Amino acid sequence: METALVVGGGIGGMATAISLCERGLVVQLVDIDPDWRVYGAGITITGPTLRAYRRLGMLDAIKSSGAITNKARLLRFDGTHIRDLDEPVIEEGLPATGGIMRPVLHRIMQSRVRELGIPVRLGLTVTALEQAGPKVNVTYSDGSTGSYDLVVGADSVFSGLRELAFPHMAPAVPTGQGCWRISIRRPPTLEMGEFYLGHDNPCGITICGPDAIYMWMLTPHQSREQHFTDEELFVTLKAQLADFGGHAGWIRDNMTPEDWINYRPLAAALQPRPWSNGRIVLVGDAVHATTPHLASGAGMAVESGIVLAEELARADSVAAGLAAYEERRFERCRDVIETSVSLGQLQLNHGSPQRFAELLEGALGRLNEPF
Ligand SMILES: Cc1cc2nc3c(=O)[nH]c(=O)nc-3n(C[C@H](O)[C@H](O)[C@H](O)COP(=O)(O)OP(=O)(O)OC[C@H]3O[C@@H](n4cnc5c(N)ncnc54)[C@H](O)[C@@H]3O)c2cc1C
Repeated sequence: METALVVGGGIGGMATAISLCERGLVVQLVDIDPDWRVYGAGITITGPTLRAYRRLGMLDAIKSSGAITNKARLLRFDGTHIRDLDEPVIEEGLPATGGIMRPVLHRIMQSRVRELGIPVRLGLTVTALEQAGPKVNVTYSDGSTGSYDLVVGADSVFSGLRELAFPHMAPAVPTGQGCWRISIRRPPTLEMGEFYLGHDNPCGITICGPDAIYMWMLTPHQSREQHFTDEELFVTLKAQLADFGGHAGWIRDNMTPEDWINYRPLAAALQPRPWSNGRIVLVGDAVHATTPHLASGAGMAVESGIVLAEELARADSVAAGLAAYEERRFERCRDVIETSVSLGQLQLNHGSPQRFAELLEGALGRLNEPF
C-alpha cells in the first residue's frame, strides 16, 4: 500500500494523516472547509489524550501553548468547596490532565501536517467512490478525480463518506442533552479545573492557557425551530448560571456578548461493525461519536488514527490491517460511548450521585489502560 486519502482535516483526520505519513505512505488530505478552521471553544485533554498526542510528538507544543495540571476541584454549585482531586499520572513524564483552545490545537496539528509535506486540498469533499481491485477511485466535488490504495473517512459525526460507503450505518442518535460552552478570560483566582455539582445543570471549567479558559454546562435539550441567536445564547447562559457561585458565578458576572458562546445538542453513535468496506475505512466521530461526559472524543479520534496506521504497517495484507484496527478500537470506543450516554441519562433522570461517580471512575480507570 502506497497512497492514502484522508477525508476530513479535523482532529482524527490530521492524526491519521500524520501517522500514515510517518509510516511511509504518500498521504493526501481534503477538508470541506475552504479556510480549514475550527470553532473557538476550548477542549479538555485528559491523560489518555495527552498520551496519544505524545505518540504524535506534540506533547511539548500542547504543554507550552495550552495548560496542564495534576489536580481538579469539586465544588457545590453555590461555590462551596467539596474537595480537591489528585488526577492520576498514567505514564512517566506525562501530565495528568490539561486543556487547550481548539484553534491552538488545530494550529499545532496543522503545522505537523505541513512539516511532513502532506498536500491539503480545501473546500472539497468526495462525491463518489468506486472500488476497483486494490484501488479506490474517487470523484471530488469540483469534478476532479483521484485513485488511492486507501481512503479514510474522518469527516465527523455527519460523515458524507459514511453515507456513501457504509449503508449499514445510521446517523448519530440525540441523547436528550445539550452542551453550552463559553470561552472567556481566566478568572484571576482560578487555580485548577473545576466541577460544579448538585445542580440539575452540571458545569465545569477547564484552563486552556495563561489567560484562557472555557466553561461547559449540560442541560436537557429542548427542541427548537431555529438556532439561538448570539444574543439569546448570551442571555440564556447567563440566566442558567443564576444559582452558581465560585468561578462559575464570576463568569456569569463578567461574561460579555463578545465572548465566544455556543450551544450544541448532543448525539452519539457507536457504528456497527464492519468499520471498513474494501479499502475504505472510518475513524473518529464518523464511526465512534460520543458525548463530552468523559472528555474523550478527541482522544479516541487521535488513538484511532494512530492504531490504524500501526496495524496497517504491521499486517500482511490491507484487509488484515483494517480488521486488526477495528478489533483494537471497537470495545474501547464502545466503553467510552456507552458510559458517556449512561452518565447523561443519569443526569437527565436525577440518578444517584454514587452511581454516577462509580460509572465515571470506572470508565476513566479503564481509559488509562494502554490502547
Ligand atoms: C460539546 C462538545 C464538547 C466536546 N468536548 C470534548 C473535550 O473536552 N475533550 C475531548 O477529547 N473531546 C471533546 N469532544 C469531542 C471531540 O470534539 C470530537 O470527538 C473530535 O473532534 C472528533 O474528531 P473528528 O476528526 O472525528 O471530527 P472533527 O474534529 O469534527 O473534524 C472533522 C473535519 O471534517 C471536515 N468535514 C466535515 N464534513 C466533511 C465532508 N463531507 N468532506 C470533507 N471534510 C469534511 C470538517 O471541516 C472538520 O475539519 C466534544 C464534543 C462536543 C460535541
